[in-house]
Amino acid sequence: YYNDDSVLFFDGEYVKAKDAKTDLYGQSLHYGYAVFEGIKSYKTANGTKIFKAEEHYDRLRRSAQTMMIPFDYSTEEMVDATYKLLEINKLSNAYIRPLVICSPNMALSKGQKSFLVIEVWNWDNGYMANQMRIMTSSFERPNPKAFKVEAKVSGHYVNSILACQEAKDKGFDEALVLDADGNVAESSGANIFFEKDGKLFTPAKGSILPGITRATVFEICDQLGIPYEEKFFKPEEMKGADAGFFCGTAAEIVALGSLDDVPFKLNWEESLASKIQTAYRHLVLEEDYSYLKTDLQYV
Ligand code: PMP
Repeated sequence: YYNDDSVLFFDGEYVKAKDAKTDLYGQSLHYGYAVFEGIKSYKTANGTKIFKAEEHYDRLRRSAQTMMIPFDYSTEEMVDATYKLLEINKLSNAYIRPLVICSPNMALSKGQKSFLVIEVWNWDNGYMANQMRIMTSSFERPNPKAFKVEAKVSGHYVNSILACQEAKDKGFDEALVLDADGNVAESSGANIFFEKDGKLFTPAKGSILPGITRATVFEICDQLGIPYEEKFFKPEEMKGADAGFFCGTAAEIVALGSLDDVPFKLNWEESLASKIQTAYRHLVLEEDYSYLKTDLQYV
């Protein structure tokens, strides 16, 4: 993630990653009481562009507020700082990780002081349709009665680690995690869609992190005239559907091959989902994707 030359943003300063220091007495390290974001920038024909930068930093501010973490940065300040940081590190295709840390305070009470760290690293790998094999996890998502699930809180990711590792240990690529009622929620770090009879379905809000990529998929569907619906559903409804995909800032749009070893029906290339994948690639690169509309077969 970093080398001797890497620079990060540390509480208003640009410092070498290897020299950055923090104390070990804090609620973030001890209790997972921190909020963060995952953002990507792309090398486009118009220069380096951070995709949905405002949406991500707005969510970071909302996450901090929801978690009662005092946090003063404006979205604009953080966007500017990130562009500067990318320039300092000479990065275009990059992953951007802002983290709001509460320290020093060890009490089980709301944060008293926070500081912002932004880390960036190279993310040059291209677009892949890799037909992931996923399994229904034995772990449930954090219960909305126990956590503020719509906030991107560090501590929630202990659940993600358990679910993802269980899937890997059983020979799968990723986990499909259900909510407390047994409805499909999301994966360890991405939202999920499935396609049936020319329509896309995705879990309604409640136990999921409402992803910015998920919202972008809706935007693309509107542009291309692809119908979609948010609803609660059981994994059985998804099994053997026409197609499925994960979506998230890091994952982008990833094709699913099977759920619990039941394959999705269509060849990926024939699915509406694959059009979403192509459109998303164009969108992040600031390219026109309206041509995809013309050869739609389902609408
Ligand atoms: N769900 C979880 C649990 C995630 O960690 C992520 C990644 N941030 C997502 C969904 C997708 O969110 P986004 O599209 O905003 O990256």
